[in-house]
Amino acid sequence: MAGGVIPVTRFAPSPTGLLHLGHAYSALLAFKQAKSQNGTFLLRIEDIDQPRCKPEFEQAIYDDLAWLGLTWPTPVMRQSDRRTAYDAALKRLTDMGLTYPCSCTRGDIRAALSAPQEGARMIGPDGPIYPGTCRDLPPRAPKDTDAIRLNIARAAERLGDQNLIFTETGPIHTGTHDIDLSTLPDTVGDIVLARRDIGTSYHIAVTVDDAAQGVTTVTRGADLFAATTVHVLLQRLLGLPTPTYHHHDLIRDDAGKRLAKRDDARAIAKYRADGAAPADIRALVGL
Ligand code: GLU
Repeated sequence: MAGGVIPVTRFAPSPTGLLHLGHAYSALLAFKQAKSQNGTFLLRIEDIDQPRCKPEFEQAIYDDLAWLGLTWPTPVMRQSDRRTAYDAALKRLTDMGLTYPCSCTRGDIRAALSAPQEGARMIGPDGPIYPGTCRDLPPRAPKDTDAIRLNIARAAERLGDQNLIFTETGPIHTGTHDIDLSTLPDTVGDIVLARRDIGTSYHIAVTVDDAAQGVTTVTRGADLFAATTVHVLLQRLLGLPTPTYHHHDLIRDDAGKRLAKRDDARAIAKYRADGAAPADIRALVGL
């Protein structure tokens, strides 16, 4: 955290399952980072993927975090209320000539990527790098069935010869990251900014909301480190500040596999039902 800045941290779960030990670690760490410096810890509900979100999981988030001893300002920001802000960000990128509609299905993309001339299959933050099938089609208005993608080569060109710089304070990637924009077409590719099913994306929502809430330190699992390049790029294109990032180690099960929401054995609710105390959870995650 930059010297002199009062930290604003956040925990931003999606209510698609019960919180597990990994979430407890993330939330407790973000809380500690804020409170140790008189800062603010925010909770944000990331529920853009409405069909996968359930009210009972949202309630369980509030219950589990309160039980752990965390407090946060209310009302809590819920991404399902924020569509206007996401649409405005998308429109801004479109007005800059940086987006295009894409009608490719997953199958189309797989087929294009398996064509012999495509060469080595590169993996970006969202999976295989999009082969660009719809990028150079004549401009057209998007249909309801289209996704909207970022033309990343054009975005990089627009930013000229600057680099993307961010500070990482987490244990795995500690230091200043200085990303050469010219590498983005190969390492990130034309990511989806608006999914056809939900009309927006995690990348747009998280970038717009971290800025709207004045978050100074983004604390989250190391699995999201690769996505940070996308977020810093979007911040630069949208004229938003870049926070400090802290990607923490993932909590793993006894076999070394990272915990998933379906691993109910590690759910906080299960530990609670079994009579554990908040201190037991802190001890389990080492905080
Ligand atoms: N909502 C995301 C999740 O539950 C976390 C996003 C973030 O911290 O940037 O995995």
